[in-house]
Amino acid sequence: MKARPSNKRTPSTKMPSAVTGKDSVGKQEGGAPQSKYHDIRRDLEQQRATILEEAGEVLTRRGEDLEAFPDVSDQASAEVDQNFSMRIRDRERKLLKKIDEALERMNTATYGICERCGEEIPYKRLKARPVTTLCIECKTLQEQEEQARG
Ligand SMILES: [Zn+2]
Repeated sequence: MKARPSNKRTPSTKMPSAVTGKDSVGKQEGGAPQSKYHDIRRDLEQQRATILEEAGEVLTRRGEDLEAFPDVSDQASAEVDQNFSMRIRDRERKLLKKIDEALERMNTATYGICERCGEEIPYKRLKARPVTTLCIECKTLQEQEEQARG
């Protein structure tokens, strides 16, 4: 059976519950090709849930902070907090996207293959950095190139 061509949808438009997860145990198409990444998938899904949870908490807490400090000076610091949490959210959003992409690659059986050289990325590296798309050598090369570019 062939996987659907990757129709790219923005993750933000779909509800968290609509994404893979739940049925990963129940229905697997006979001998899932990438079941060796089962552990990593679980890690990714857990990480994803944590991020979503924390993002929710940041938003809630931010509202409370603003009301708790009516002082002008404290409002300024509340603004700093707000920038800070927005920066975190930006980083989390990017990580979320990477997690989604990694899960998507698992679905299309392209997970764990280096984007650059096409070699399999060692399991140990994937376990440590589940969202990576490059093997160590290619990652090193890429970093050297980025540094050279300044
Ligand atoms: Zn590579």
